[in-house]
Amino acid sequence: MIIGKEFEFAASHVLPKYDGPCNRLHGHTFRLIVEIEGEPNSDERSSSYGMVMDFKDLKYFVEHGVLNVLDHSHLNDLGIYPTAENLIDWIWEQLEPNLFLHRIRLYESPTSYAERKKASITEIKTINEIRKAHGMVPIIGGGPWVKKENV
Ligand SMILES: [Zn+2]
Repeated sequence: MIIGKEFEFAASHVLPKYDGPCNRLHGHTFRLIVEIEGEPNSDERSSSYGMVMDFKDLKYFVEHGVLNVLDHSHLNDLGIYPTAENLIDWIWEQLEPNLFLHRIRLYESPTSYAERKKASITEIKTINEIRKAHGMVPIIGGGPWVKKENV
């Protein structure tokens, strides 16, 4: 099951290689959508019974993992070339240790976004069948719930 939450942050950047107005210093109000994957908690004694994750906890991980750094920052200070594409990979790397990410999407404007999605378990199995047929070592991915013997 997938659950998600939306966030907003404001930040500036400059893309010096770009042939257009984005090569001048400017700002955006970014919208970030974080989706995680899991099954609802079946422990009736838990306060998060029936939930994949308490939305409050999801908010905590995103705020402490990325928003505290990104909001009202100059994105070039991250040490990356701050296109929406590179930003989404940076955000993924920060959140991945704490969350079973399914998909994250970053809107740079109301109509322009970049998205990164975790390969599904089925896709990983297919990739590994092809790799096996070519005598290659299987990739381990799709999160810690993918057991080595199943891929
Ligand atoms: Zn821009």
